[in-house]
Amino acid sequence: MNKFFTLLSCSVFLFSCGNKKEQVTITNGLTSEEKKDSANIKHLFNSALTKGKSYEWLRDLTQNIGGRLSGSPEAAKAVVWGEKLMKDVGLDSVWLQPVMVPHWVRGEKEEAYYTVNGEKKQVPICALGFSIATPTNGITAEVIEVKSLKEAETLGNKLKDKIVFFNGAFDETLINTFRAYGGCVGQRFSGARVSGQFGAKGIIVRSMTNGINDYPHTGSMGYGEIPKEQYIPAAAISSRAAENLSNDLKTNPNLQFYFKQSCETLPDAPSHNVIGEIKGSENPEKIIVVGGHLDSWDLGEGAHDDGTGVVQSLEVAYLLKKNNIKPKNTIRIVFFMNEENGTRGAKEYARLAKQNKEIHVAGLESDAGGHTPRGFSIDANEKNTKLVTSWKKQLAPYGLHDLLKGGSGADITPLKDEHVTLVGYRPDSQRYFDYHHTSTDTFDKVNKRELELGSASMASLVYLMDRYLYTKDEVKP
Ligand SMILES: [Zn+2]
Repeated sequence: MNKFFTLLSCSVFLFSCGNKKEQVTITNGLTSEEKKDSANIKHLFNSALTKGKSYEWLRDLTQNIGGRLSGSPEAAKAVVWGEKLMKDVGLDSVWLQPVMVPHWVRGEKEEAYYTVNGEKKQVPICALGFSIATPTNGITAEVIEVKSLKEAETLGNKLKDKIVFFNGAFDETLINTFRAYGGCVGQRFSGARVSGQFGAKGIIVRSMTNGINDYPHTGSMGYGEIPKEQYIPAAAISSRAAENLSNDLKTNPNLQFYFKQSCETLPDAPSHNVIGEIKGSENPEKIIVVGGHLDSWDLGEGAHDDGTGVVQSLEVAYLLKKNNIKPKNTIRIVFFMNEENGTRGAKEYARLAKQNKEIHVAGLESDAGGHTPRGFSIDANEKNTKLVTSWKKQLAPYGLHDLLKGGSGADITPLKDEHVTLVGYRPDSQRYFDYHHTSTDTFDKVNKRELELGSASMASLVYLMDRYLYTKDEVKP
């Protein structure tokens, strides 16, 4: 080893970190602090992968409670479950935050079919959340196919008395499937509002999914400001049924489509966000919030959406405690209620945070499924965005290569402020829309190891944010 290298690898530097100056030793290119961070991150991963609890917690939530739509008895059970679990993990304080939530119920199993050349074809269908019911004997009408909201608007009065069939498919060339979803979901959300204004009888929407399968995917819709008389029933059909129907319409443009659903919106129901925290050792008034949403759609078990986010968030606290890492700031775990159809929990959490003058320095949300970790998307001021991006050195060995500017998540976005660093956990997105909002979003679709890698990834990011994020005063020019 030459003299210069020895000097470089073992000398003491005055290391400048923004306006914080501290004496650190640099060995083999890593500062002593970075070495400590690397060791702690390794401990977090090791314990998640050998002593993790998230998988068994998820089994309990999904298999013993199941789907948990806002206002349902299952959602109420999940609140009790979450509060008990946070206490079992030994958080310093645990409480429930009351919130009124929408209460939409699906009713009887939906039915749909059409007949071509004497053959009756059953169509897998499900009502969209907040849709009204059909008349009790269903709706029968001719179908008019469109690929977008814009096309429906252009057709205008030609939609009258028809069932409008929104058949815009995912753009399969997009690598990030959430982008493809974003490109299509407007049809699901606003298709009934647009078509109802022109006197359509109802809408059916191609399910929001990659590829072709037999499961209808539900999700939220809204009628906006249109008068109640213009409300029409809205449902999703499976992607395979959408392909078949589109083909059949080419040769049988006047075929009659039938569907029936009995869903309804009941008065708002009382519910809760479930909250627990580890008090900060130096700045207990500063909060880093970590969360996912406790509610889910009713068709499956709400495993990837968002049982995984819930158990991973709590496992962040569990892993910090297990490794005796005492955060400087308060780490607050939140199981948000009603992300799927209203985000009332998120709005109430942000409203109370503001009212109580709480100081949120950061938020991390996991609501993109429990698949293999890829990274994080960062919504923060320039200085903190740069800082978080610079942690790639520490995180890349765990497969966390994507540290990119972008949105965070629906439940923490209401906390947005130039001094709050909001981060979305980003697992691989290729399989997410196979399960999203369907009966197939079940526990068996979650891989234990992928889930635990996610918890450890989130815990590592929280650990780094707790140590290094620039505060309000440090960001000022
Ligand atoms: Zn979700």
